[in-house]
Amino acid sequence: MNRKESEYYINGVKFGDRYILGKTISLIESELSVDRMLSTEILKELALNRSNSFRIGITGVPGVGKSTFIEAFGEYLISIGKKVAVLAVDPSSEKTGGSILGDKTRMSSLSNNDHAFIRPSPTKNTLGGVASSTRENILLCEAAGYDVIIVETVGVGQSETQVRNMVDFFLLLMLPGAGDELQGIKKGIMEMADGLMINKAEGSNLMIAKQAQSEYKNALHMFPPTESGWIPQVDICSSLEKTGLKDAWDMIMSHNELLSQKDLLLEMRNNQNITWFREQISQSLMSHFFVNENNLELKKELEMEINIGGITPKEALARLLEGIFL
Ligand code: GDP
Repeated sequence: MNRKESEYYINGVKFGDRYILGKTISLIESELSVDRMLSTEILKELALNRSNSFRIGITGVPGVGKSTFIEAFGEYLISIGKKVAVLAVDPSSEKTGGSILGDKTRMSSLSNNDHAFIRPSPTKNTLGGVASSTRENILLCEAAGYDVIIVETVGVGQSETQVRNMVDFFLLLMLPGAGDELQGIKKGIMEMADGLMINKAEGSNLMIAKQAQSEYKNALHMFPPTESGWIPQVDICSSLEKTGLKDAWDMIMSHNELLSQKDLLLEMRNNQNITWFREQISQSLMSHFFVNENNLELKKELEMEINIGGITPKEALARLLEGIFL
């Protein structure tokens, strides 16, 4: 990449230049150490310059209509005066290096809108599936003046927990026909959701969607209430017919108002920062450990000893730590 001075990136992002914002995100995602120094400098400066945004996580099984919903919802938000950034957490296939989300062709109408910015993030080399830079990308989009940041994730992996930990509101999209859905979506994901939107609620599906809505409402009432006292809400929409989009926004806004009233929004974001920091400690220690040939060699030897029964795993661990730290 042709690198420029930090001012180029800082001023471009502050100015809301989408091209430079994209370039800056690429720089942040770069694993080269020369880029690391530059990106630290840029992030430090831009962190002071952020807008007050809504951060929304959106998940759901493939085919539920996430990209159609985000496109319709994004356009609705722009129509009420918002600037919308979409960060798609794209679990690139490990085997082929391909991507599930097939970025460019998705959300083509929204991506052409001057008030929208769409960016898929590759998730290579991250432990849990979510690009470790997604959190930083949120900050960059805030610095570029986007006031709604949508983080999209495919509802199939561990990435939900991580995305949940970087947003204010976690929205789960479902299909009408509750029975089928409970099989596709893991129960844990339902428990994480602040709200459910049942998509494709139109035509002959409308009645089924309303039925599902009341079933999910009952199911969600069984979960213990959150600290804020918020009870997850369930509504219906059709992303194709662009109905129910205002209801989704109203749901998100009332959650936000409740958190703000109780002074919990800032607290939640601070807790999320601490969680991230702790996760990064273990990730960084792991990667430091694995770049050292001696450590890897020692680990291999100890594994062989465990295999032949010459040592217990606990002893092996003690020797490994001794080898590293003493
Ligand atoms: P994703 O995999 O979750 O991102 O789902 P997509 O947005 O790609 O949508 C999957 C399919 O469902 C596409 O063929 C969409 O046209 C269709 N779809 C999405 N939303 C709706 C909706 O509200 N109603 C109907 N009937 N189809 C929809």
